[in-house]
Amino acid sequence: MEKILVVDDSVVQAAQLKSILSDDYDVTVAQTAEDGLRLASEESFSLILLDVVMPGMDGFTLLKKLQEEIITQSVPVILITSLSNIESEQRGLILGAVDYITKPFSPLIVKARVNTHIKLYNYRRQIEYQSKTDQLTGVANRRQHDLYSAVKWSEATRLQVPFSICMFDIDNFKKFNDTFGHPAGDRVIAATAKTASACLQRSTDFFARYGGEEFVAFLIGDSSEKAFSHLQKIRQAVEDLHIPHDPSVSQYVTVSVGGVTVVPPAESAYTTYLKVADTMLYDAKKHGRNQVVWADEKMRQMWEKP
Ligand code: GH3
Ligand code: MG
Ligand code: MG
Repeated sequence: MEKILVVDDSVVQAAQLKSILSDDYDVTVAQTAEDGLRLASEESFSLILLDVVMPGMDGFTLLKKLQEEIITQSVPVILITSLSNIESEQRGLILGAVDYITKPFSPLIVKARVNTHIKLYNYRRQIEYQSKTDQLTGVANRRQHDLYSAVKWSEATRLQVPFSICMFDIDNFKKFNDTFGHPAGDRVIAATAKTASACLQRSTDFFARYGGEEFVAFLIGDSSEKAFSHLQKIRQAVEDLHIPHDPSVSQYVTVSVGGVTVVPPAESAYTTYLKVADTMLYDAKKHGRNQVVWADEKMRQMWEKP
């Protein structure tokens, strides 16, 4: 059930709203704006119904605070108030409320407006999710990679923490498609993404499908030795899936990985080092595939296989 937060100092009013909505929604009540703010940032609500006149912090102030916080700013807020003058309505809508209902209200109108705003909120979330996600694998897509890498690179540049970038590419994949067919190839891409992303679960890790059978990951804060050895484990995990390949090329499906670790120099670009990772990947392919080749902080190469 979708969750709605009602913030109202009047127990009677809150109970009335709850009874109107609780058939269809999971309704939580906060009796002060302070409690409302805390609950809104701790739990994920699909809508907030907010009273304006409350002792202590009022609804306008809470609305402003909700709009300023990244985690709450996208949650729609409907103001419910006895302030029926036009200035209050203007103020609420300008502050970012999606709707404004004056008391006394009609239960059916409240329900209809709530339903509409929750529907719109869900559409928006779905579109946001789809615009970031690769459909085949469920991991981040190229677009999300481009946006997110820029943000994280500038953060790491400011904080001067090591940043590791790596590119994965499935080995001899054209041959796999030729032998087993495109749908089987799609399943291999999905299985590879699942295995690799499962090994990159820290909040600072990122993994995306970059193109057809290519993936990019970045790890923040690790030394080159640590990142290099972690990527060897991931490469091994893909091999350990034991997905049969065409015997003329290899026993199992494998990936080659190229990576680089660097403390981002001032004014440097992420894409410069992505190219370094790509060069390392090229060397891994040339050197026999199914291996990791890395460039350390001093751009010295490290090889997994002799
Ligand atoms: P290498 O080991 O050098 O990477 O050889 P490769 O055959 O993997 O490299 P190449 O880049 O020549 O071929 C990549 C193949 O990946 C060609 C293309 O048909 C296939 N491919 C790209 N995207 C998809 C996809 O979404 N699904 C499937 N099934 N195949 C794809
Ligand atoms: Mg390729
Ligand atoms: Mg390939």
